[in-house]
Amino acid sequence: MTTSDEVRAVAITPAQPGNVKLVTIAVAEPGPGEVEISVIRVGVCGTDRELIRGEIGFPPPGTDDLILGHEVVGRVSKLGSDLIGLAPGDLVTVTVRRPDGCAACVAGEPDMCLDRNYTERGIAGAHGFMAERIIEHRDWVIRVPDRLEPVAMLTEPLTVVEKAVRQAELIQRRLNYWNLKTAVVMGAGPIGLLGTLLLRSRGVDTYTLARTPAPNPAAAIVTASGATYISTREQSAQDLAATLPNIDLILESSGSSQVVFESMRLLGNNSVLVLLSLTGGHDTHEVPAAELNTSLVAGNKVVVGSVNAGMVDFANAVESLARFDELWPGLTASMITHRFTLDDDLAAATGKLPGGIKSVIEFGNGR
Ligand code: BGC
Repeated sequence: MTTSDEVRAVAITPAQPGNVKLVTIAVAEPGPGEVEISVIRVGVCGTDRELIRGEIGFPPPGTDDLILGHEVVGRVSKLGSDLIGLAPGDLVTVTVRRPDGCAACVAGEPDMCLDRNYTERGIAGAHGFMAERIIEHRDWVIRVPDRLEPVAMLTEPLTVVEKAVRQAELIQRRLNYWNLKTAVVMGAGPIGLLGTLLLRSRGVDTYTLARTPAPNPAAAIVTASGATYISTREQSAQDLAATLPNIDLILESSGSSQVVFESMRLLGNNSVLVLLSLTGGHDTHEVPAAELNTSLVAGNKVVVGSVNAGMVDFANAVESLARFDELWPGLTASMITHRFTLDDDLAAATGKLPGGIKSVIEFGNGR
């Protein structure tokens, strides 16, 4: 049993990898400018699995445990003082990263943090959202239209590709003629799929590459959006590229450091490769360094890394989710392949499941 100021939450002990556990924690009253959010559901992602394996992450000061979760949808359930712009019952999601004192953070762009002393809720030095109720400052809370409730926990992963495409567009202001027509997405996990939907929603001719041959659930989503799904077991990326016009943009979200370098070889002239995979570990590969460098230089190509996302990307992602639902009713929701509750085996709930795209944990606060 939990008392009224206690809630159940999903935690790890970063110093002891492999153990996901149910804990009970106290929830404080919301302070000035803060709200309490009753969590409806939280998505599980690859970063959570890296955290569970002990590869990344650390707990908040003074504790050994870290509450997981950074893809949340919930409803405002209590207001602190000095609160404007939010009301009880509002459907909301929350950003992940909190600033340090560096110039980029002070300028309002913690996703571009210079010193990397930021905290990230559910990842680095701050508890996450896998709890029945959470407290957050209004500055990091984004309202979401009610009808997006089933998919709103996908806002955060979608912001990753919103930022990626926004970065590419900012970079391409170097060109007078830039016209994004042909794009390749490496990987058909949640990020690759959301990138595919985003590009398709803008009418971009999109090719999404992954290992597993179709039919499979990810390939079905790619195809339904009007993009082309390619299994690299059936056609190599190089062979595909030979049949395409200039590839204007590549979003790399395969999670493989080898694919990162293969992507550089695919990139068209004057084009941008946005790297989104945080590749843990220490893999090394032999690369055709001279050839790669010459093609980047001679073709005016840009390779750029992009992590996390800004407030503008959250606002854009909420709009995109609504647009996806108009274009392809129910398609985004079909990314949710597995649902769990706090009563289920949490190792299974947070693990990678065969054919699975996105698992979510339901916290029972839906209407
Ligand atoms: C999150 C980002 C975060 C990154 C690194 C990703 O899963 O989507 O917001 O910055 O992990 O911690």
